[in-house]
Amino acid sequence: MMKSRNCIVPVGLSLAALGTGLALKSFLPQRFDTASWFEPHTSMSLDTASLPSIEITFLRCGSVSIPELLAVRGAASFAPRLIVHSAVLIRHPRATFLYDTGLCSDIHAYLSGRSFFFRQTLARFTLEQSISSHLRHHGLTPAQLDFVLLSHLHWDHVSGVPDLPGVTLRINRVEYEAARNGLFEQEKGLVRELLDNNPVELFDCAGPTYESFRSSHDLLGDGSLMLLPLPGHTAGHTGLLINRANGPRVFLLGDAAWVAPNYQRPATMHPFLWSRVTTDDATARQTLIQVHQFSLLHPEIALIAMHDGWQQELFEHAERTGKVHKLQ
Ligand SMILES: [Zn+2]
Repeated sequence: MMKSRNCIVPVGLSLAALGTGLALKSFLPQRFDTASWFEPHTSMSLDTASLPSIEITFLRCGSVSIPELLAVRGAASFAPRLIVHSAVLIRHPRATFLYDTGLCSDIHAYLSGRSFFFRQTLARFTLEQSISSHLRHHGLTPAQLDFVLLSHLHWDHVSGVPDLPGVTLRINRVEYEAARNGLFEQEKGLVRELLDNNPVELFDCAGPTYESFRSSHDLLGDGSLMLLPLPGHTAGHTGLLINRANGPRVFLLGDAAWVAPNYQRPATMHPFLWSRVTTDDATARQTLIQVHQFSLLHPEIALIAMHDGWQQELFEHAERTGKVHKLQ
């Protein structure tokens, strides 16, 4: 008896030490092997003079602050990072639409009844202004939107849909098919409930390679709104690169990064969060590297993640004042 107790104590201590070591390691930077990457020398800058003028407005619906070391793995800082839930209002001469949907006015009713853990972690935020209120402020009714484009089908990107009854949802076919086998049913069918009966139109990123991206979909056929696959976060996760005559090119990254340092370093978010929200770890890392390289090739393009409150505020300021800031 004595002997087995003597055994248990050191094993217990070893396991505790191992657990503590792993927990501490999760906050350390993770090496991405960048030594073998090609050095980007040339960037093809696009002549945007013949493209249409496109207005881009971030509509921030909610926010939460988290310590930087959770948003960026290896950032040794507890400084608050503003994580937001936004939609983007895009006004092209031939279409007015949203990229993602922010939050609806009843979002807390949709979230009540989901698991306690979910509500206390990923679904924790302050509702600031619903998407319907934002649209009213801009003199728009939901019926005046031509469609909504969804970066992916996580709950926080479709949470504005209940305020947009009848508006067509454009969704990457890969994303929609994958969600039918999983995402729709998570958290007691939250995403299915939020999407309600809105009509759905599927698109394919089946067009030619674009810059360094393997395929594309030219949304309106004029080269101004390019949908580009950024898979990994979810299977059919899709970014939108906006080429326009009246301002800098803008690349909306969806959740390929949470905040700019994710693609600048590059670094994932803390592995606890990363593993909770990422469908395919290896593919999501490849996408992060691809976005990192793209940002080096194109310092003139504003790369903006959908949860990055600080980047969105910087962009809005530059857009409204006409002052060009370094946007990366
Ligand atoms: Zn998200």
